[in-house]
Amino acid sequence: MRMSIFEYAPAPESRDVVSIAPTYDHFIGGKFMASKSGKRFATINPATEEVLSKVALGNAADIDAAVKAARSAYTKVWSKMPAKERGKYLYRIARLMQERAREFAVLETLDNGKPIRETRDTDVPLAIQHFFYHAGWADKLEYAGLGENPQPHGVAGQIIPWNFPLLMLAWKVAPALATGNTVVLKPAETTPLTALLFAQVCIDAGLPAGVVNIVTGDGKTGAALVSHPGIDKIAFTGSTEVGKSIARALSGTDKALSLELGGKGANIVYEDAPLDQAVDGIVNGIFFNQGHVCCAGSRLLVQESIHDLLIEKLQRRMEQIRIGDPMDKNTDLGAINSKAQLEKIEELTQAGRDEGAKPWQPSCSLPGNGFWFRPTIFTNVSGAHRIAREEIFGPVLAVLTFRTPAEAIAKANNTPYGLSAGVWTEKGSRILWTAKRLKAGVIWANTFNKFDAASPFGGYKESGWGREGGRHGLLPYIRHAISRETTKSGKGGKR
Ligand code: ADP
Repeated sequence: MRMSIFEYAPAPESRDVVSIAPTYDHFIGGKFMASKSGKRFATINPATEEVLSKVALGNAADIDAAVKAARSAYTKVWSKMPAKERGKYLYRIARLMQERAREFAVLETLDNGKPIRETRDTDVPLAIQHFFYHAGWADKLEYAGLGENPQPHGVAGQIIPWNFPLLMLAWKVAPALATGNTVVLKPAETTPLTALLFAQVCIDAGLPAGVVNIVTGDGKTGAALVSHPGIDKIAFTGSTEVGKSIARALSGTDKALSLELGGKGANIVYEDAPLDQAVDGIVNGIFFNQGHVCCAGSRLLVQESIHDLLIEKLQRRMEQIRIGDPMDKNTDLGAINSKAQLEKIEELTQAGRDEGAKPWQPSCSLPGNGFWFRPTIFTNVSGAHRIAREEIFGPVLAVLTFRTPAEAIAKANNTPYGLSAGVWTEKGSRILWTAKRLKAGVIWANTFNKFDAASPFGGYKESGWGREGGRHGLLPYIRHAISRETTKSGKGGKR
């Protein structure tokens, strides 16, 4: 067993900065309102299985109330407001989030299980950046190349996943508000708490009632939002399976649709790559956020001549990964978000073993309670194995080899997905040659998992339609901004 070179004393973040209420209601029309059904469900800390709070379980009647509030706010207030005034609200929201950044980070870590270092340094700052960035667009939309007088759809229904709860909220709410839409947002069932803190920020920012509505609940609540006739546009981030069911539900309607779905990103390492740098990029690509990342570099494609050396370096690096208490500032890998997700990861890694791939895990110990999975790499993987084809959404890397650049491209593109890819080489010309041939929405060169509000993000094939972030990310929220990629019907939403 290799030991860590450095032993770290515990450095836990204090949770005193957050106060979690025993129960939460929906946020509809500027007020917190109990669910019409009276039902609630528990949200737990996946690192300890402690129940954090019980939140309202939304049904069709709650969705209806939220859509009516959003419609009324759109018609009476938001659509009449000068764009530069709209922008001021976004700036105000961003500044209030900055003031409460530590609170958001701690709450997200408790509810999601991801390390405090990531919520503090990545999720929360990026979420705030999205509001600042889109605040700037609000009064400049006619210069965004979206036509002379870009118009919003009206009411946007937005459904988000649990892997980056606050950040996905920001990716959805900021562009929708900047372009003049009002929203009904449905957070994921395992991570509703930061969205409810965001509701408080909306109140404190003086955002007109009904511009942002948040209905908590499960998949059925999401389905009720999708099928509500008063919605003009749906934006969804989540699994490809649910994305397909939403696309089916909306076909034949004139609701606009954007989808950000799964991925099986190829991280390609050529033999001339700076290997130590690549090893850190591989670790960041697959173990960041416990691998709960749709654009994770979950398939490592390594040139055969450096395979053994790279794997040895990677294993040495993986022995240094600290897994455990997400509230500890030294933790690299936190808890798996839910029991169901842990079971899915276990099922797929068992399939990897059964199909003949060779697993390897570092010798770290795991906490007793909660949902945990050791970082894992599989070598001897063939392109036909399930672990090379299906999205695991956990800290599991499938390693494949290639001999020529052409083979690397063929293997990288041999997937139903097309969200992200990475290229590691010292040669700029090889980066460009490779990037041109990869079918992926985002391609990183000599780095991985870098995000910026100004940079559009989205996929090809089964990874989705439309982009989020940057100028391109405004398009899905604009009526008549015809793009085959960004709207379902091609004619935008109804009035
Ligand atoms: P994951 O597999 O990552 O949990 P899902 O696609 O199941 O992703 O969930 C993403 C979001 O979609 C969550 O907010 C979830 O409640 C919601 N959801 C699940 N099923 C449906 C559905 N049939 N219609 C609309 N939303 C759904």
